[in-house]
Amino acid sequence: SEELLAEGRRAYELDREHVFHSWQAQGPFKPMTIVKTEGSFVWDGEGRKLIDLSSQLVNTNIGHQHPKVVEAIQEQAAQICTIAPQHVNAARSEAARLIAERTPGDLNHIFFTNGGADAVEHAVRMARLHTGRQKVLSAYRSYHGGTQLAVNITGDPRRFDSDYSSEGVVHFMPAYTYRSYFGSETPEQETERALRHLEDMITLEGPRNIAALILESVPGTAGIYAPPPGYLEGVRELTAKYGIVYIADEVMAGFGRTGTWFAVENFNVTPDLMTFAKGVNSGYVPLGGVAISDAIFETFRDRVYQGGLTYSGHPLASAAAVATINAMEDEGMVANAQRLGRDIIGPRLQEMKAKHPSIGDVRGLGCFWAIELVKNAETKEPMAAYGGSSPEMNELVGAIKAAGVLPFANFNRIHVVPALNISDELLIQALDVIDEALTITDGYVTA
Ligand code: PLP
Repeated sequence: SEELLAEGRRAYELDREHVFHSWQAQGPFKPMTIVKTEGSFVWDGEGRKLIDLSSQLVNTNIGHQHPKVVEAIQEQAAQICTIAPQHVNAARSEAARLIAERTPGDLNHIFFTNGGADAVEHAVRMARLHTGRQKVLSAYRSYHGGTQLAVNITGDPRRFDSDYSSEGVVHFMPAYTYRSYFGSETPEQETERALRHLEDMITLEGPRNIAALILESVPGTAGIYAPPPGYLEGVRELTAKYGIVYIADEVMAGFGRTGTWFAVENFNVTPDLMTFAKGVNSGYVPLGGVAISDAIFETFRDRVYQGGLTYSGHPLASAAAVATINAMEDEGMVANAQRLGRDIIGPRLQEMKAKHPSIGDVRGLGCFWAIELVKNAETKEPMAAYGGSSPEMNELVGAIKAAGVLPFANFNRIHVVPALNISDELLIQALDVIDEALTITDGYVTA
C-alpha cells in the first residue's frame, strides 16, 4: 500500500542518518528496504514482491511470519515478556526439551545464548575449562561469528581487521574437493589427505595443548561445501584419540536446513558440543545456544560455570523456538527440505551446470546449495576474487533481483537456500530466474 511505501521511504532516510550497519563501509552503502514479509516473499521499498531465496542470513527456515510462531510470541508476550536467567521459565524448559530430544547422542543439556557468535564463545570456554587446555583448531574457509574470539576462529576475510588477541587459535585446511589444497582428484583422496594434514597439525601444535576443534558440519557462508565421505568420521576419531573437544557449529546448517534436524546426522557423527542459532526459531526473536554432552556436563556438576547472559533462555525467544520446532514437526518441513534438495534443486542445478559454462561447481543437500561461478572451467578462476565482489557478480545479482528473486550471494557464489516449506512451484520459478540470469556470467567466460 501507499502508506507502507511512504513509511519505507521515511525509514530509509532515518537509516542513512542514524543506523550503523554490519560489515559495511557506511558511506556508499545503499541498503534494500523491506516493508513487508510473508511466507517465501518479501516486498521492497518500491513495492516489488520478491521470492526470498536467501532465507535472509539463512535463518528463516520456516519462512516469514509463520502464523503459529507469531501467535506463540504474542501469547508469551501477554504472559511473561522477560525473566532473569536463574529462574525457571516454562517456555525455556520446553524449548530445551524439544532441542535435546532432537540433538544426536548424549547432547542432553542446553545452554541458551542470544545468537551464534556467543554460542561459539561459550562452547570454546566450556571446552577450555573441561580440558584445562587452551588452543583451538578451526578451519580456513569458515564463519563462526562476529565477536572477538568467534571472528578470530573464523576462517574468512571478515577476521582480517580484527585478527589479534586470538591466542591459541590455529587454522587448518578443511576438506574441499572442488578447490583441493591437497591436489586431490576424488572425494576419497580429499578425505584421506585432509585427515592426514589435520593429524599432522595436531601433532605439530601439541595435542596436550589443544582444547577444541570447531568445524561447521556443512560450511555455510564459506561455500556450502559438504565434507566428502568419511571426513567428519575421521575428525571425530582424531579428536577422540587426542582428547580434544569436538565442537560442531550448526548455527547455519542445523534445524532442518540439510534435510535432517542436524547436519551431523548426514555423516553419522556425534560431537561433544554443538552450537545452534538461526533456524532454532527462524530468527523471529534472537536465540542461540550450545548443546552439551553428558561428559562435559559432569565437569560443571560441582564446578561453577563462569559464564552467562541476562537473556539466556529469554521467554519470547524460547516460546518462538517451541512454536517453530512444533510447526516444523507438524508440517513435515525437515523431510520436505530433503525432498526439495533431492528431487528439485539438485537435479536442476546439475542441468544448469551442463549448459552454463560459467558454472564451475554445484553442490549441496536439502535446502542448502551453492553455485560456484568461474571465468574458466580449467583454471577455476573465480568470477569474483576471494573476499571480494566483481562487476560481473554485481550484474548477475542485479538481474536476479530485477527478475523478482532475492538471492544469497558471496564472492563468486550464488546460494540456493530457500525456506524449507517453499512451494515446489515458487522454487521452480526462482530456479528459472537464476537459470536465465546465468547467461550474463556465461558472457564473461574466457575459455
Ligand atoms: N556460526 C555459523 C556457522 C554462522 O553461519 C554464523 C552466522 O552466520 C555464526 C556462527 C554467527 O551467528 P550470529 O550472527 O547469530 O552471531
